[in-house]
Amino acid sequence: MAEQLRAVKGMNDILPPDSARWEWFEDRVRSLMARYGYANVRTPIVEPTALFVRSIGEVTDIVEKEMYSFIDSMNGDALTLRPEATAGIVRAMIEHNALYNGPLRIWTVGPMFRHERPQKGRYRQFYQLDVEALGFAGPDVDAELILMCRTLWRELGLMEGRDVRLELNSLGQLDERRAHRDALIAHFEHHSALLDDDAKRRLHSNPLRILDTKNPAMQPVVESAPKLMDFLGEASLAHLNAVRSVLDAAGLEYRINPRLVRGMDYYNLTVFEWVTDRLGSQGTVCGGGRYDTLIEQLGGKPAPAVGWGMGIERMLLLLEEAGVQPPPVGPLAYAVVPGEAVLSAAISTLEALRAAGVSVLMHAGGGSMKSQFKRADSSGARYALIFGEDEVSRGEVSLKDLRDPAAAQRSLPLATAALWGADLLNA
Ligand code: ATP
Ligand code: MG
Repeated sequence: MAEQLRAVKGMNDILPPDSARWEWFEDRVRSLMARYGYANVRTPIVEPTALFVRSIGEVTDIVEKEMYSFIDSMNGDALTLRPEATAGIVRAMIEHNALYNGPLRIWTVGPMFRHERPQKGRYRQFYQLDVEALGFAGPDVDAELILMCRTLWRELGLMEGRDVRLELNSLGQLDERRAHRDALIAHFEHHSALLDDDAKRRLHSNPLRILDTKNPAMQPVVESAPKLMDFLGEASLAHLNAVRSVLDAAGLEYRINPRLVRGMDYYNLTVFEWVTDRLGSQGTVCGGGRYDTLIEQLGGKPAPAVGWGMGIERMLLLLEEAGVQPPPVGPLAYAVVPGEAVLSAAISTLEALRAAGVSVLMHAGGGSMKSQFKRADSSGARYALIFGEDEVSRGEVSLKDLRDPAAAQRSLPLATAALWGADLLNA
């Protein structure tokens, strides 16, 4: 026997019946985006490596240790599988001059790639839902993007407070971060014995990143570090307060977390994360913030922007932990087709039913009536449509309610399938 090949470690196949949960989630998302007026975009999965280095930042976990980077052997190009969506979207918007006619609200969904240690809720290929508002200075859109998440939680059947909580912070502006940075370096130098290797290496290149550490041993020295919040000027505080007052008025609870810095260098002002206690150390399901200088930094005409990314695997795990069950999917009817003599009549009736909106699964491959009925039961269909030879020769088909064994079987005319099919949908 030939050697069996396996999927790359940390990369998952999504198969039925699980894929139905994905489709259900994506349907909710599509509907949400339409109601908030966000348009769909799709950008390449592979981008020039320089794009991510320049946007996410050289001294970050993603760029230092998580990127799938390679040289295209055909032409020597340095390429990377996208670890996140914002950089590629911004690149595309600049390339197509998409902000020429004004600001844009867009969203995308697709796979991202990070070379991390695979565990529950952490994979090497994972899916993100990504929403961006480009050309808006906020704080109105910041609040819109956050409230949009709350609407999604509610429509998915999650409870804010119990299943997900909002954490909010402001990263201020560059000059404010510079002043904070000096204080931060002094603090960490003073406690240099407590720093791990990553922190020591980043002390002078990117001390803010030290605050994003996942090392539990580092928590005390991070907790006692000077807070960026104390370095914010009036304008930054006003921006934060404006976001807060919209959230307050909307009755959305949040916690100000002065340690929240996010993992990429491009953020300023508003940053936020939706966190859960139900997924252990993979507790962040959604994170985002403002990135007002990124467009200019990547060669575009200066324009402010804000967005968020949500991990879909973590969302689906959270929904499971929270006991949310998507409605079962299955065909409305299962067609029992005893033999080839009735096949043409059966198939044209089924085509008419499907055109009328009825989902109907045809038994294929023959077999006894008994085995076909077994399949009908396990398909989850409400009805069996039985194309018996006698019925079909009279121009009819039998309808059996699989959920109500006491109900009498009915004969229905093949010729008017579209009509009674539509009635079945409403029954
Ligand atoms: P974490 O702190 O858990 O590593 P992150 O801050 O690196 O997350 P972001 O870059 O903010 O994550 O990405 C946005 C979202 O994408 C996260 O909140 C999470 O839900 C999801 N995500 C990030 N990395 C992974 C991964 N390796 N596997 C699955 N989901 C992920
Ligand atoms: Mg990470």
